[in-house]
Amino acid sequence: MRYVIAGNGIAGISAAEAIRQLDPSGHVTMVGDEKAVPYSRPMISMVLDGSIPFEKLPIRVPSVYEDLNIETRFGNRISAIDVADHEIVLLNRQRIPFDRLLIATGADARSVEAKDANLKNIHYLRTRDHVRQIVDKLPHTRKPLVLGGGLVGFKAAYGLLKRGFKPTMLITSAYPLSIQVDGTAGKVILDELVRNGLTVRVGISVIAFEGNEAVMGAQLSDGSTLPCDLVIAGKGVAPSLSFVPRDSISMGQGIRVDEYLETSLKGVYAAGDVAECVDIARKRRWVNAIWPEAAMQGRTAGMNMAGRNISYTGSVSRNVMRIFGLDLMTLGLANPEPDSDCRMLSTHDLRNNRYRKLVFRENVLVGAVLLGRIEQGGLLLALIRNETPIGISKKKLLEPGFNFRQLMN
Ligand SMILES: Cc1cc2nc3c(=O)[nH]c(=O)nc-3n(C[C@H](O)[C@H](O)[C@H](O)COP(=O)(O)OP(=O)(O)OC[C@H]3O[C@@H](n4cnc5c(N)ncnc54)[C@H](O)[C@@H]3O)c2cc1C
Repeated sequence: MRYVIAGNGIAGISAAEAIRQLDPSGHVTMVGDEKAVPYSRPMISMVLDGSIPFEKLPIRVPSVYEDLNIETRFGNRISAIDVADHEIVLLNRQRIPFDRLLIATGADARSVEAKDANLKNIHYLRTRDHVRQIVDKLPHTRKPLVLGGGLVGFKAAYGLLKRGFKPTMLITSAYPLSIQVDGTAGKVILDELVRNGLTVRVGISVIAFEGNEAVMGAQLSDGSTLPCDLVIAGKGVAPSLSFVPRDSISMGQGIRVDEYLETSLKGVYAAGDVAECVDIARKRRWVNAIWPEAAMQGRTAGMNMAGRNISYTGSVSRNVMRIFGLDLMTLGLANPEPDSDCRMLSTHDLRNNRYRKLVFRENVLVGAVLLGRIEQGGLLLALIRNETPIGISKKKLLEPGFNFRQLMN
């Protein structure tokens, strides 16, 4: 059996390890454009904030491919899949045949739509090379600018604040992390960031950059100009699937997969940030671009490629963040549309930065925002993932001392 794994992130390596466990003799080739041993992508933001050194990023030993007897073709970008001949095609026109293919190419940072966005010192924060370039520039940086207040924009701003900078963040929504949290939690987070030195400008975007070689300023949508000498763009991510033939493989926001992580094309699987699976809380297809789901999907896809029939029950979104002294956890459908069929319960003690919101669909928990005290996050996640019917007063789940035993009563 010839297995090809496209993408060398957590989904790709988890699949490779699962295949090897079940099929010691099959030929496995991994292809990826990054040359690194698999590393923790979420932790690049910790390199930026200075809490870990660059060398701590790898999550496997350098000999991992040799140990698993895997052929590697790294430093190569895939440009096409030849469906008729069962081959992937690299940018250098080399072809690699497969019997089973896993697409685990993750996501790419969305580009900044502004004039002269290719000036020096305008960066994205997706790869270890990106963070290395940013950290190298920090000794010469005086006026950093962050574009976007989503997960990556937030982490970029937080990293700069932790390094002692006073960055400016431009966001189109009213507060950072607006996809993850509602206005109440958003305001607490915004205040905490501002108290620690962040300037946030709301409802504003960049239309052009100024500078000769390197960036020196940003022209903003309100007509003003903002001096800046380092820009980190966190405008979200998009699944990396430009080489996937749409006429043969069904796609929505990402590559659509069934419960075995197989695409609409037999023998071709997808996992991780590139894949669109069922979201348990949303009850619809969704791309949940988070690390633990990428790992689980990769492993499950690998087992299925090697002949097991293991179903993946679906994904649940979740994030845990520390914002200086404030802990935040979001789970599932944490911020539903106002016209959704969900009911919300919440409690707060905003003087002490405590807030807890639970989202229910009928008698099933589908989402939560925990601010301040997050200890019961694991329990709430299990309730969401298992769609456990709540047979007790739902208000009990708002209590910080709530535990499993109370559910049984
Ligand atoms: C700054 C940051 C912070 C994050 N924080 C968190 C967090 O706190 N919690 C959390 O759960 N998740 C977090 N994430 C998201 C998490 O990192 C991703 O969900 C996870 O890495 C996805 O793994 P993957 O294997 O699907 O894709 P990736 O890790 O993106 O790996 C895909 C690989 O495929 C390669 N590739 C892409 N296209 C091609 C091509 N055409 N040819 C060859 N190779 C290709 C890519 O270069 C990459 O090496 C964060 C991400 C970032 C960037």
